[in-house]
Amino acid sequence: MNAIIISIGDELILGQTVDTNAAWLSQQLSSLGITVREHITVGDDINAIVGQLRRAGGMPSALNNDAVEVVLVTGGLGPTDDDLTRHALAKVLETELKLHQPSLGRIEQFFVRLNKPMSQTNHVQAMIPCGCDVLENNVGTAPGITTQIGKTPVFFLPGVPAEMKVMFDESVKDKLRQKVSAGGAEKVCAYRTLHTYGAGESSIAEMLGDMMSRGRNPVVNCTAAHSIVSIRIISRGPDEKTARVLIEPVERELRKRLGTFIFGSDEDTLAGVVGGLLRRNGSTVAVAESCTGGLLAKELTDISGSSSYFMAGWVTYSNDAKVRFLQVNPEILERYGAVSEQVACELARNACRESQTDYALSITGIAGPTGGIAGPTGGAEGKPVGLVYIGLADRGGVEVVRNVFPGGRDCVRRRAVYSALNILRLKLL
Ligand code: ATP
Ligand code: MG
Repeated sequence: MNAIIISIGDELILGQTVDTNAAWLSQQLSSLGITVREHITVGDDINAIVGQLRRAGGMPSALNNDAVEVVLVTGGLGPTDDDLTRHALAKVLETELKLHQPSLGRIEQFFVRLNKPMSQTNHVQAMIPCGCDVLENNVGTAPGITTQIGKTPVFFLPGVPAEMKVMFDESVKDKLRQKVSAGGAEKVCAYRTLHTYGAGESSIAEMLGDMMSRGRNPVVNCTAAHSIVSIRIISRGPDEKTARVLIEPVERELRKRLGTFIFGSDEDTLAGVVGGLLRRNGSTVAVAESCTGGLLAKELTDISGSSSYFMAGWVTYSNDAKVRFLQVNPEILERYGAVSEQVACELARNACRESQTDYALSITGIAGPTGGIAGPTGGAEGKPVGLVYIGLADRGGVEVVRNVFPGGRDCVRRRAVYSALNILRLKLL
């Protein structure tokens, strides 16, 4: 079975919003065994929407002659004048919009729950083209719509990603699953992603060898982002369960080959994994940051429940602050500079002592100019942009690692934070 996804919104074609809806929906469809042929993006323009709906309904898709079997549309169901999806649909179906009383009731209830008056403009969200069915919205105001254009089933979902996802899960997924099983043997995909830190993409590829050859089932892919290399296992089978089973031996082999380079899977983050280890060990941590300006503390506290292990953080950005708040010896600062092994060492040791935690991480480095790339500019002699010292103190002492990270300011700061988290992770293992 094949599908197309149409995303509607001026903000999408202007590049102000990245179309995450189409990406998310594609993943959902592919795990149901539905092949997505195209992503189409149009602005809030009734003629453009009408054109795409006509094309999608019953017409062969652009890339091959298979008729499109299902169309998913997101956006343009809001109450304002630029929300034109329902009008476009009425035009395509050559019908009128009609008030759908139960939807109006739900929208009114939505505002009662929020304890806010409902604006007149919200009425239009309960207007549905005659002959179409409504998909209830349990998180927002805009109901979804489903109908057929020609012979093609079409689902209209809200643009707000959170609303779109709930509506897809509650009202669309099962219908699609039924269509797929009625359609006979289709290949369903299952996925597993393993995240690694500490080895580059090419070393990973070397360790995996022929596991990454094309044309296998499962197939193994690699993607890298800020020195985290993620390995994706994609398997195909007649149903999800069979596809999942195929993943298991490949995952076991990957874990055997990559060992502690692997820090987690699927939704895991480095900070989340470190948090889990700290909690398991009953340990606490503090941080002292300079060039990362609090990013390490932010990552650690992004995890709910982090108060059980995260004690405190200092952003000692200036030399003065390093001396005043973390008692860095001014002579050491003078002699070696703020970006030095010695200062990283003092920051970690003193943060650990002051906060009385089991561990403290410190980061001091040269993040460089915004959008810049590593090079001689910005760093003093012998200290290039991207030079970052990371310290880890525990009650036994301090270790400091020197790194020179590539990339611009944002990249250097992120890499510094991930590297610090990974140092602590390996310590905790
Ligand atoms: P709804 O149908 O839910 O009312 P809408 O398109 O009518 O959606 P907008 O106000 O245009 O409502 O968009 C609501 C929010 O959803 C905006 O923040 C918008 O950027 C976001 N959004 C819309 N479409 C997408 C998309 N395809 N991907 C990611 N975000 C999107
Ligand atoms: Mg919109």
